[in-house]
Amino acid sequence: MANRLTVLTMRCNGDFCLGVKTGKGILNAPEAARLLRMHAPSTVDDLLQNEDGPSLNALVDAALQSGTPCAALVDEANVEFGPVVTRPGKIICVGLNYRRHAREINLPIPKYPVLFSKFNNALSAHKSAIRLPVEVATKFDYETELVIVMGKRAKNVNEADALFYVAGYCTGNDFSARDLQLDRGGQWMIGKTLDQFAPLGPYLVTADQINPDKLKIECKVNGETRQSSNTDDFIFNTAQIVSYISRHMTLEPGDIIFTGTPEGVILGHPKEKQVWLKAGDNIVCSVEKPGELRFDLI
Ligand code: MG
Repeated sequence: MANRLTVLTMRCNGDFCLGVKTGKGILNAPEAARLLRMHAPSTVDDLLQNEDGPSLNALVDAALQSGTPCAALVDEANVEFGPVVTRPGKIICVGLNYRRHAREINLPIPKYPVLFSKFNNALSAHKSAIRLPVEVATKFDYETELVIVMGKRAKNVNEADALFYVAGYCTGNDFSARDLQLDRGGQWMIGKTLDQFAPLGPYLVTADQINPDKLKIECKVNGETRQSSNTDDFIFNTAQIVSYISRHMTLEPGDIIFTGTPEGVILGHPKEKQVWLKAGDNIVCSVEKPGELRFDLI
């Protein structure tokens, strides 16, 4: 995997391509590779699948060192973001993984990680507009989360080695329709994987730059702070999550894991104070280091 890099998915000519955040703007990696006649991965998924980090580090160094500014550098304000990972083989989510969140919704601290899944139809991007499916649901809620992105195949890995298999981390929102999640027979999935209900981004920050178990995490709705916590309140830390999952199913490069949300969700408020999200709301999710994921509801 690449080192010391912050990468993103950007739209280029109707397709997704790999961008790299630099001090001089966002480097369009496939365009830079073409201009500099170098080899580099062309999408974030390529980067993860092929462990092509060294070639990307070399490309970024060459683009920044050339005397004239590389024509493949673009202003971040003009970037149209895609979901950071666009084709994960699995989207696994951990429920009830913060102590204070378990307490606010009156559920016991779980003995094992509580796992559920989303599918790729749910992926959406930084600065996107999420259409609320009001035909089928009413109780829309936010869940800001740290997201693990896998960089190597992991099967039966122990906790001490688990983070070696991680490529990096993103900010995500495990967006939820509580009425579907909780009132349809006990399985959460239907309320969790509606179209666009897994916004992810804006960046993937490589694992070498982050201690994932001590990061500030926040959510604002229309500018008002709703969640403000730290991943040090995790019940199962990132190494325990990766190790536990890998003992039950093989994790592959590009798989992503939503690690759970801290306290402050609407579901945790007393019933008479639950005001669900609606069209027109603006959500800002931030995790220290991976950065700020913003989206609107329509
Ligand atoms: Mg969640």
